[in-house]
Amino acid sequence: MQRPTTASPPVRVAVVGAGPAGFFTAEALLRSTSPVFAVDVFDRLPTPFGLVRSGVAPDHQKIKAVTKTFERTAENHRFRFLGNVQIGRDLSAGELGAAYDQVVYAVGSSRDRRLGIPGEELAGSYSATAFVGWYNAHPDFRDFPFHLVSERAVIVGVGNVAMDVARILLKSPDELGKTDIARHAVETLRASRVREVVLLARRGPAHAAFDPRELEDIAALPEVGVSVDAQAVLADAPLSAELDARQRRNLELMRELSRAECTAPRRLRLEFFASPVELVGDETRRVCALRAERNAPGVGPDGRRVLTSTGQTFELATSVVFRSIGYRGEPIAGVPFDEKNGVIFNLDGRVTEGATGPVVPGTYAVGWIRRGPLGVVGTNKADAQLVVSKMVEDAAREPPRQAQGSVDGLLAERNVRVTSYDDWRVLDAVEVDEGRSSGKIREKVASVEQMMNALLRGSLRPE
Ligand code: NAP
Repeated sequence: MQRPTTASPPVRVAVVGAGPAGFFTAEALLRSTSPVFAVDVFDRLPTPFGLVRSGVAPDHQKIKAVTKTFERTAENHRFRFLGNVQIGRDLSAGELGAAYDQVVYAVGSSRDRRLGIPGEELAGSYSATAFVGWYNAHPDFRDFPFHLVSERAVIVGVGNVAMDVARILLKSPDELGKTDIARHAVETLRASRVREVVLLARRGPAHAAFDPRELEDIAALPEVGVSVDAQAVLADAPLSAELDARQRRNLELMRELSRAECTAPRRLRLEFFASPVELVGDETRRVCALRAERNAPGVGPDGRRVLTSTGQTFELATSVVFRSIGYRGEPIAGVPFDEKNGVIFNLDGRVTEGATGPVVPGTYAVGWIRRGPLGVVGTNKADAQLVVSKMVEDAAREPPRQAQGSVDGLLAERNVRVTSYDDWRVLDAVEVDEGRSSGKIREKVASVEQMMNALLRGSLRPE
């Protein structure tokens, strides 16, 4: 049966997750004229914008400017924000499915990947995910005890998240203090003893996952030097022809950096061809060293680069270790989850019962929870367009369901204090005001309770 497209009620969609994937999805749905959609965007936090608010580094404000686009989406009369509602806690996936014509999960990848080496549970062994959430005032990580007590910090992994963590550790706290970084983080960073940050990479410079701009930014910081082993760069030089533009620029940049002497008081050291094998603990069960094994670059029978473990180990003395080796999605009860890859099972965004199973009607996934934790904020725009094209196709084909189009009654019965987009506007103004009074772009409210109190009073300060 062809669904009528004019003068029929809008197709009701629940978008779960108000991060970039959720907002780009809402934007693409609201742009559709045939059929017309009405969109409710849910988030477990009272605030919108997901990783743009709590993942993008505080000194990368240009990236955060994308929220201007999200604000325009939120102005559409067919858009609603329902913050402070967790699917799986306040509402079940089944209840959401019954209430809406279509449900799209845009929940991102909130768990960190583990190294699986001895000592990972010791004090001083941290996840980059937690550190990023902490310096960005995410309520889940506000009270996380980061002790930056040794002169050296080691970060395992060489992606853009590792670069963000390294830059925050090395940059002047006075500079960071002008951004929207969490107040508690600036205080801890001021007291930090870290002077050297070692990035540990199991492969060579040609395969570093970061973008060259990130390394250039650190190299340009005042009083910060970058040290790269010239031998590692030489070992990867023959690969040049098979690299893409990003990798070639990285290699070139590291070649330049390896030639310069690094005498700055604070430094980033790139340690290549080394895999972590153990975090060594002291008698108080705190990390006192990271033990790593050297990998030898070689050429396989097919002419491709292979790495072999040499069995040769070395230790880096440190009491501060971050693992920054990627993220994983978190399962939601009632939504088919691929444990191996940490994503929701789907075929081009249509959720499936398993890897090859049938499609779950009216259920979709978009963003990192669909394709894994890869790509920058803007990558989610194309992803949202792909998934919305499937949603449009399905909505035009399928007969209208008896969806109630609202879960407001259930949420009220359960005493869930739902925040609206207008509430966010109030909080936004409160944060900007509070920041202004201390010379910052904004002072984020770092606890849900304080957010609710600020909404009642219109201020962060007690009366
Ligand atoms: P990522 O780019 O996937 O990097 C993960 C790093 O961890 C790689 O260097 C990887 O090395 C290494 N690794 C994985 N398993 C390991 C193991 N068992 N032992 C040692 N090293 C291991 O992940 P990410 O840094 O978390 O970033 C996630 C996404 O967010 C990326 O697409 C990134 O570009 C994006 N992001 C962008 C920005 C920005 O634009 N400023 C900022 C933050 C994040 P191998 O390559 O050898 O596997």
